[in-house]
Amino acid sequence: MSDFVFAPAPPPSVAVAGSRARFPVHRIYCVGRNYGDHVREMGGTPQAEPPVFFSKPADAVQENGSAVPYPPATTNLHHEIELVVALGAGGRSLAPGEALGCVYGYAAGNDLTRRDLQAAAKERGQPWDASKGFDASAPLAPLRPVAAGHVTRGRIWLKVNGTLRQESDVAEMLLPVPEILAALSRLYCLRAGDLIFTGTPAGVGPLKPGDRIEGGIEGLETLRHSIAPAAAG
Ligand code: MN
Repeated sequence: MSDFVFAPAPPPSVAVAGSRARFPVHRIYCVGRNYGDHVREMGGTPQAEPPVFFSKPADAVQENGSAVPYPPATTNLHHEIELVVALGAGGRSLAPGEALGCVYGYAAGNDLTRRDLQAAAKERGQPWDASKGFDASAPLAPLRPVAAGHVTRGRIWLKVNGTLRQESDVAEMLLPVPEILAALSRLYCLRAGDLIFTGTPAGVGPLKPGDRIEGGIEGLETLRHSIAPAAAG
């Protein structure tokens, strides 16, 4: 008999490639402005605007192959293909090399963004939560365990309905993975189960109901999902 006033929701989790095992999600951290070409397409300058951290709720994760409902309160939903790092251990104030040792695996993810709400928040100096941390805003391919090697370079790409929209190399990240983890660990106590979206390259753009999204990072499972009509109610 539990003391909870109602049954708690099951923990959000992510598939592991080549296994029936599930990776339980603790938190989702994200890096913004981590590819110079994307900073420039958003009207900024990489030197003047260093990478920024924000987060999404853990239950925003969506299984590969999902039909993600078009979210409410936006007319400009954008795709952002990203390398996602999954932690199997954590800690505070980690050195970059030590932080890399905490990685459980890697996956391709889509940092879905209500771009119109984000633009309004930036203009007013308000937080990004509503533009980034909405329901079902984190579709994710199965994780590839780190035993197959760390991801330090390789093509990153995204297609909408078969048309290439984003293409770069993860070696172009302004803050590489060990430095991202070290910086985050000075702000938060990192834990096993944390996911980190590491930023997107140029080519972000709008999605509409019926669109089919495919995205990948060399050596990892391909992310596939669609956009469904808005949920009723
Ligand atoms: Mn992003």
